[in-house]
Amino acid sequence: MSQSAGEDSPLEVAIVGCGIVGLITAAGLARRRIKVTIFEQGQGLRELGTGIAFNPAAQGCLEMIDPEVTMALRMGGAVGLSAANEDDPHDCLRWIDGYNQRDKSDPYYQKYYLKTNAGYRGIQGIRRDHLLEQLIRVLPSDTVVFKKRLEDVVEGGDDEKIVLKFADGTVAEADAVIGCDGIKSKTRNIVLGPDSTAGKPTYTHVNSYPTVIPMEKAVSALGERKARAFHNHLGPDANILHYPVAHGTMCNVTVFVRNDEEWPQDKPTALVGQRADIEHRFRDWNPAIRDLISHLPETLPTWAVFDLWDYPLPFYNKGRICVAGDAAHASSPHHGAGAGMGVEDALVLSVLMADASMKLGKGKLSKSQVISSAFAVYNDIRRTRSQWLVQSSRRICDLHQQKEWADPTKWLKAESTLEELKDRTYKIWNYDFRQMVAEATESYGMLISRLEKQASATNGDVKAGSIANGNVLESIAKTKTLANGIGDSKTLSIETHAEVLAGPGQSCTTDVMVS
Ligand SMILES: Cc1cc2nc3c(=O)[nH]c(=O)nc-3n(C[C@H](O)[C@H](O)[C@H](O)COP(=O)(O)OP(=O)(O)OC[C@H]3O[C@@H](n4cnc5c(N)ncnc54)[C@H](O)[C@@H]3O)c2cc1C
Repeated sequence: MSQSAGEDSPLEVAIVGCGIVGLITAAGLARRRIKVTIFEQGQGLRELGTGIAFNPAAQGCLEMIDPEVTMALRMGGAVGLSAANEDDPHDCLRWIDGYNQRDKSDPYYQKYYLKTNAGYRGIQGIRRDHLLEQLIRVLPSDTVVFKKRLEDVVEGGDDEKIVLKFADGTVAEADAVIGCDGIKSKTRNIVLGPDSTAGKPTYTHVNSYPTVIPMEKAVSALGERKARAFHNHLGPDANILHYPVAHGTMCNVTVFVRNDEEWPQDKPTALVGQRADIEHRFRDWNPAIRDLISHLPETLPTWAVFDLWDYPLPFYNKGRICVAGDAAHASSPHHGAGAGMGVEDALVLSVLMADASMKLGKGKLSKSQVISSAFAVYNDIRRTRSQWLVQSSRRICDLHQQKEWADPTKWLKAESTLEELKDRTYKIWNYDFRQMVAEATESYGMLISRLEKQASATNGDVKAGSIANGNVLESIAKTKTLANGIGDSKTLSIETHAEVLAGPGQSCTTDVMVS
């Protein structure tokens, strides 16, 4: 990426948060020659060396965001999750029995419950720290400013800059603000307002232990074939998954255990866990799993998993401020798709901001109208699907950790429920992201042209408030063919969020049939 990217852009965007979604959104904006700055509260990049995987839809979006991001993935050591099987080089996820202690000669020994096929290089796994190191190289060198903890955002008049206020007393200015500041997002508070009950993270009653171990140790416990491919070992109240990362030299292992206790509000959610606790918890599981656990480090990170399941966001935007990634739709990790969903957000935002940039200063519309319209369309395109992920991830956890796996009279019943898991997985993977982009740009074009006509009719006197009063609902209405990548339902929803332009309380939803 050129060091001068964005110098000639009429649009300056501030991103809050330098996680995966903030960096990828910045890459998409910089690629489109929009000036972008990331403000990050930490002193540097903060991801651990544990793994993260990108599904086919997310990878398709990454390529459209910026092919250099795809390259960053490769340079960071991304590998197909099960490509090491020469006789079956497609990336497949496999769910298998991790609990029952049948003899190896028993046909039900480590029984395969379900396999989903993402195709060749369909899912790539990478260490998070390696990904971030590569992503930051895609950006102009002065893009990220560390040690800037956002405290407030103040929107000015129609064509004035927005002011971002930081904890150290400094300020910065931008035309638009995208909050990629994670599950504890400050930007989300600003978008929703101080009295909102939405967007409050709650405990999922699951704790995760993510770590990486040398691949040869995983092979010694599980054998070549299993260790070098994604497997998710299921059992009552827990599951353990693993896949290769770092060019296949390391195995990413994540343990998930159910915890029926409450998580006190003031207790940290990221702690140091003990292997001994995991060993105790898995003491009745299959010997191969116990062997795998014996190779985990004595101490490892453990995270109490929180999400936005209980209190979903009613909208993702307010004027020229919006939220993306976990700030908008933090989900539990059981689909392995939270970051992927943020990547889809990043693509829509990149495309709409590029369209907005081209509109600025060229017609009768103010900066505020051009940008807030783009964020309204973003909200409309992205909210339903990404909120569904939050819901579905909880459901997947329930399917993974059914008590019935341990009951010989019930495990067949449990196995049959995995059909649902397959549908939900393919809904994520087969998402038509190109159609998503087409609908976003079309909706935005329609909205802008409607506002321009209004401006001409009123001699330029269209205020942001008149966008919000509901008289442009038809313009931004759109058919939602996107939400279900595998479905063929023709009953679609037209949904608009005029409220996002002026605050909550003014939305309209209509069901229509399309031919
Ligand atoms: C165990 C586990 C496994 C997972 N596996 C997968 C997977 O395989 N595939 C997948 O797609 N997803 C996966 N996920 C989900 C994925 O990790 C998240 O969805 C993703 O990392 C969210 O990225 P983000 O950039 O939105 O937020 P974050 O990574 O939380 O980044 C937010 C950033 O904002 C900064 N910040 C916060 N507040 C402020 C402030 N006030 N001012 C300035 N900066 C601020 C933070 O310091 C941080 O750097 C997994 C999650 C877990 C827990």
